[in-house]
Amino acid sequence: MSDNLSTRRVDAIMEIVSDDTVDVSECQFFNLIAGESFDWKDDEEMDLAGVNGRATVWNHINLYAPKVFVLSPPCTLYSALVNMWGRKAMGEAKYQKLREEADRLLSFACEIGLHQLRCRRHFVFEHPDGASSWKTGPLLHLSQQPGVIVTRFDQCRFGLRSPGSQQPIRKRTRLVHNVPQLGQAFDGAFCQCTVPHRRIEGSENGVQLSSLCETYPPLMVETMLAAIRAEVSVEFIN
Ligand SMILES: [Zn+2]
Repeated sequence: MSDNLSTRRVDAIMEIVSDDTVDVSECQFFNLIAGESFDWKDDEEMDLAGVNGRATVWNHINLYAPKVFVLSPPCTLYSALVNMWGRKAMGEAKYQKLREEADRLLSFACEIGLHQLRCRRHFVFEHPDGASSWKTGPLLHLSQQPGVIVTRFDQCRFGLRSPGSQQPIRKRTRLVHNVPQLGQAFDGAFCQCTVPHRRIEGSENGVQLSSLCETYPPLMVETMLAAIRAEVSVEFIN
């Protein structure tokens, strides 16, 4: 997968990702509407936490009026593990600084979701099901809007595996969105594994599992895009 997502044109969805969450090259297959990806980090020219970065995103939204916006801001700071161990290790001052930045990006993502709703367009927001972000104000507010759907599933059902031992990794995930087809494709798709799961810790074949799990498995991307395409084409016909 590319590491210059922010500069790559995509055909399908305009999205904000924390990493290469969706392999946007897949989107071309679906031949939807041209969009742009923005990366939350690793992009010094476009700091999304800053005023200029946000203005760039709003310009794109106003210019292209994307039908669907996939939002996946960084979630690490909202994980129970970071709260338990990382916070102590990095010190409270550093934690608070990083947390403020994460909160700014989270609020920004929620603003975009609300904007899409107001414009009668679509958004998909994704975070791990266990993340504490779900209890924060902006995300609660977005989740409670009329027409917004909450969908939970396990990524092992969509082929998330460790790179070496090929053990399934469960990673329960939550989406809030207004794409009914997405709910039908994902909601309640929980684990059916008959073998033990691999925990998301350490590395295999030189790949850190926590980084691996930031990327959606191919079947999840395909399923997501098929659902989005179905939704958008139904609306087009009607
Ligand atoms: Zn499983």
